[in-house]
Amino acid sequence: MTASPQRVLVVEDNPLNLELAADLLEADGFAVMIAQTGQEGLALAQQERPDLILMDIQLPGMDGLDATRLLKTDPSTERIPVVALTAHAMRGDEELIFGAGCDGYITKPFDIQHFRSVIHRHLPRNGAAPGQG
Ligand code: MN
Repeated sequence: MTASPQRVLVVEDNPLNLELAADLLEADGFAVMIAQTGQEGLALAQQERPDLILMDIQLPGMDGLDATRLLKTDPSTERIPVVALTAHAMRGDEELIFGAGCDGYITKPFDIQHFRSVIHRHLPRNGAAPGQG
């Protein structure tokens, strides 16, 4: 029996960042879904219930913080980890990111090792030994 790949939704309006994130994830064996606006990301998340969401903060229209707040108050999506993608990670930004309900964040431009380690930290671990972490 082959385990199906874990699914990651990337919500990012910058085409280069979107492509880089998708490429890194696909290289690591994830199935990747993409959205370029907050509304689109929200709809896909509710429809597909991915294992993890990467959420750009600065999006046209509904921003990533508002989209995350909605995801985290919807019983169908509240348990999906949301990792913010942000160009800024000053103290105030971190408070905003966690205040909106994000589980972690990755700063842009992406550092590949950091990107991988944050994703693996926040992925739900199917069958992990109890008491870890
Ligand atoms: Mn953006």
